[in-house]
Amino acid sequence: MKIRSEYHKILFSANGRVMEINSRDYNRLYEALGGADNGIRREIRTLKTDIDEQMVRKIKNAAEESMTLLPNPRDSLRFPLHMNFELTSKCPLRCPQCYCSLENGKELDFERAREVLRDGAENGLWEVNLSGGETMLYPRLYNLIEECSKLGVSSNIAISGYGVDKTVLNRLIEAGTNAIFISLNGSTEEINSHTRDGYSYALNALALLCKADFPKTTVNFVAHNTNCDDFPNMVSLCEEYGVSRLVVMAAKPTSKYELNTVPSAEQTARLAENIQKARSRVKVSIGVENCYSPLRAYLGKSFLRGNNNSGIWRGCSAGRYMMSLDVDGNFTPCRHLLFVERFKTIGEYWHHSEVLNKIRNIEDSPGQPCGGCELGRYCLSCLAVNYKIEGKLEKRNKHCPVAEFTRAAG
Ligand code: SF4
Ligand code: SF4
Ligand code: SF4
Repeated sequence: MKIRSEYHKILFSANGRVMEINSRDYNRLYEALGGADNGIRREIRTLKTDIDEQMVRKIKNAAEESMTLLPNPRDSLRFPLHMNFELTSKCPLRCPQCYCSLENGKELDFERAREVLRDGAENGLWEVNLSGGETMLYPRLYNLIEECSKLGVSSNIAISGYGVDKTVLNRLIEAGTNAIFISLNGSTEEINSHTRDGYSYALNALALLCKADFPKTTVNFVAHNTNCDDFPNMVSLCEEYGVSRLVVMAAKPTSKYELNTVPSAEQTARLAENIQKARSRVKVSIGVENCYSPLRAYLGKSFLRGNNNSGIWRGCSAGRYMMSLDVDGNFTPCRHLLFVERFKTIGEYWHHSEVLNKIRNIEDSPGQPCGGCELGRYCLSCLAVNYKIEGKLEKRNKHCPVAEFTRAAG
């Protein structure tokens, strides 16, 4: 087996336990397991400790134990790798589609956040996305990021740019923030303003991050019918500001459960073409979020060896490898699927939630157009779209622009 890095994180996906070992010990473990990793997923990670023979034995026992413990929930990991923490629903900005307000917002109880974080860290949680509202308004933001760093959980923070100056940025970096996501829906104030507020805040934050040479700046670009054709300019803007990653995101239903700005089929085809062109041309890494599964599946069609948008990573991650903690401290499948359930631990929720169980069986009876779609097995499109617009939790996306191409092909 080829070792790619000096350190490894082993996730026992059967019971969600995680252990970190160095390459030498990984090789010994590999030998101890008879030359096979028996389904243990291996991940690369920074390690702080070394381990001895006794620990290798412990790991081996844990690995063997894990094979007979809890089964994987259907089509899902045994423990979530990612979580979203909704830190606050306060926000001073006024984006057209959003439910947040400065006056009526709430904040996540810090002790609850810490409790969930510790539970996650002990059991294999890999990464936390800190979101809002406006995350910068969360009173104990730096404490929470520091807690993540202490526990070895990656923390990404999504910001609008509001309230960010050099000092704030340095504090975020010093606390151990892994990646900073800036939301921007257009290369000009005018284009951005159709679907977002705060253009100047975002550009100011990008300029500061660029100056600080922060290595993991991501721009989140939500594709609407008002900005889709602006994508090439967004790529140029990201190049100008030294952005490391530009992620194309799907439009989600508004706070009024409407979805009127989905790009047309033609716009989507142009966007796909522009993404492909940019990927071969620029240094900025261009991604498409998992929630934008129809676009990922459509882009995947061009690969010679078949569509690689497959497996549990092919689309909607809710209950598959991701879940959320809402501002009231409850678990939900994702921040857009507001089925609130109160469980003490992540593991209890992951294995016993009726909502998650339903989500994991969603593909047994897909509605149209997804049922007859040739990309159906490469796409698990956003469940929040159908739920919020049609009131039903099922695999069905009447707003899918890609459906037009697949109907034509079929
Ligand atoms: S910045 Fe985010 S939280 Fe604030 S209004 Fe806009 S979408 Fe809502
Ligand atoms: S019709 Fe459904 S399955 Fe097909 S690409 Fe669109 S969302 Fe995905
Ligand atoms: S329900 Fe929609 S927004 Fe939530 S994880 Fe799934 S695809 Fe993403």
